[in-house]
Amino acid sequence: MAKVNTVLGPISVDQMGITLMHEHMVLAYPGWDLDPLCQHLERGELATICAEALGEVKKYGVKTVVDASPWDLWRNIELDKMVAEKTGLNIICATGLYYEAEGMPAYFKFRSQVMDITVELYESFMQGLTVGIGKTGVKAGVIKVATSHGCITPYEEKVLKAAAKAQKETGVPITTHTQQGTMGPEQAALLIGEGVKPEKIVIGHMCGNASLEYQMSVIDKGVNVGFDRWGIEFLFPDNLRKATVIGLLGLGFADRIVLSQDCNACILGRQLIMPDFIQALIADWSYTHIFKDIIPQLKKAGITDEQIGQMMVENPKRIFGG
Ligand SMILES: [Zn+2]
Repeated sequence: MAKVNTVLGPISVDQMGITLMHEHMVLAYPGWDLDPLCQHLERGELATICAEALGEVKKYGVKTVVDASPWDLWRNIELDKMVAEKTGLNIICATGLYYEAEGMPAYFKFRSQVMDITVELYESFMQGLTVGIGKTGVKAGVIKVATSHGCITPYEEKVLKAAAKAQKETGVPITTHTQQGTMGPEQAALLIGEGVKPEKIVIGHMCGNASLEYQMSVIDKGVNVGFDRWGIEFLFPDNLRKATVIGLLGLGFADRIVLSQDCNACILGRQLIMPDFIQALIADWSYTHIFKDIIPQLKKAGITDEQIGQMMVENPKRIFGG
């Protein structure tokens, strides 16, 4: 039986059960810890905050959570391990990089002046996938890549090509970040053009676009799509996400959609106080929003338990297991 690496070791894909395919423990942009006014919480405190928030999903039968944090959004394996131990959830961590404008390209862009960084990136991804991340011995179970709004920059293209090469050698899936759902077809075409099997690709944040024509331009390539930002209504309204997913399910694509919330338990740095109108637009955003609010509404619209199970259990198992 196919295995997937979690932060506490490999498990059979049969043990994955209900799976959230794109969440985070904490959110932290590169440079947060250089702010003289940033708050420094001990890892143990952070683990408690994350475990309390994420642990809520167990009430809804969730067994597995993918932490889609790339290196440069402060992916933290020791924290993931502590949260997995505290909650009993399977946590799958990623190797990979965020998009150019909000990631950490300075290091590799400097190197790219004298080196072929596609090779270097590939070697780094392979290290995390086959040997282990840092000194933790934990192997990443998924590769994360990302592109900009409306374009794939030359740096991002190198990251995607390196990810494709590592994917082909290891068989682990690739999960992507799109800026508000843009560049989905281009990401899929680039990765498939590099030899990645479409069924091993999840094009993320596709729920940021309500055009069925656009959705089909991605699904027609054979890849999976992530409806993985439920509750972030300052980016896109949940009602339009719902209408889109109901449309795709009506067309028979339950086997190509995964659900998640792109949620985090804590944002690192200086205390962030959001304006009231933004707070109102993320009032429902949580690790349990899908279960509390979205699934009941989808069921009212005629979506079946079988379709929900396909999206939340069978698709993750197939994507990781092949
Ligand atoms: Zn994310």
